[in-house]
Amino acid sequence: MLLLNAHPLGLEVSVFAAQSNDPASQVCGRAVLGSMEDRTDLRRYLSKLDAVTFESEFVDTAKLARCMPQNLHVFPRLEVIEGIQDRLPQKRLLDRYKIPTAPWREVSNKRDLSEVENVFENGFVLKQRRFGYDGYGTFVFKNGKADAKVLLKSNHGFIAEGFVPFKRELAISFVRSVSGAFVTLPLVQSVQVNSRCFSVHGPISHRGIKPLTQQFKKLMDDLDYVGVLAVELFDTGKELLVNELAPRVHNSAHYSIDALTCSQFEYHWRAGLDLPLPRVELKSKGFAMVNLLGEGGRVKLSYKPMGHLHWYGKFENRPGRKLGHITTLDETGKKALERALSWRKDFQL
Ligand code: AMP
Repeated sequence: MLLLNAHPLGLEVSVFAAQSNDPASQVCGRAVLGSMEDRTDLRRYLSKLDAVTFESEFVDTAKLARCMPQNLHVFPRLEVIEGIQDRLPQKRLLDRYKIPTAPWREVSNKRDLSEVENVFENGFVLKQRRFGYDGYGTFVFKNGKADAKVLLKSNHGFIAEGFVPFKRELAISFVRSVSGAFVTLPLVQSVQVNSRCFSVHGPISHRGIKPLTQQFKKLMDDLDYVGVLAVELFDTGKELLVNELAPRVHNSAHYSIDALTCSQFEYHWRAGLDLPLPRVELKSKGFAMVNLLGEGGRVKLSYKPMGHLHWYGKFENRPGRKLGHITTLDETGKKALERALSWRKDFQL
């Protein structure tokens, strides 16, 4: 989606991909095949670029830094990605800016885990520090007791968070450009099934979002953050707590391709290349997005003209895997969601 949105801007864009049938390779005339593990591949690729950005934060920043030519423009900066890709420095960053988040503790061993059981009596969520996504690496212990074997599931360490009895989950994305221009995408509500995003709709209003936006603007200015920053939130009914950050374009803003006059992907390129950031403008009063999550069956897509289909061209259909998404527009976010959910029934995944 980043590539598809770069081409109309006149950018000569390429992708470094593991395989020719990767979704990104399929839509890019300049797909360069190589391995992120291989320094020679990386050096060769990076030496030809003016600028580089990432679709995933799970990159080896130290290795990348060693393989990069000195003046390559990287957005967001590698140090920023490093501070967010690991949940421990991410939590510390939020604490430093007094941005409300679920109470947390570092968990490296059995002793830490039993301490956590005492502190979070009303349940906790153990999250591996690195490489967790779509619920992988997230373990919920609602009764506040954990089997220590869970610690064997990752060798990157964990954090534990107190279980938040949230009323709903929200998300928002901020964009900051090289020269400091800043825009806020609409606040949205997301629904997760099995810790995985199922649907998003909006726009949503919440009185807590204005002060939170100011806090994030300060944080992004201080970090010299460039690009899209996605923020997942818990609405407890009393306050907004940050669940997690992603230093990239994000599933919770995929609606923007069809619902905004400038998508999150276009904003990301504009921000990184210091092009003007357009005012955020909705194409309709309400919008929704429903993920097409794999069910491991034979796929049948629906071409009913109810909205927009975005199919990623992934070859493996695993249960829960994000294979694509659909978006709809309507008078309200709720109506758009109803329409998307009824259309969703017509897909076989
Ligand atoms: P994450 O991988 O951190 O985004 O977590 C995936 C999902 O697990 C979230 O979207 C929530 O539905 C749930 N979850 C994560 N952390 C907590 C928490 N501290 N309390 C309650 N539910 C949580």
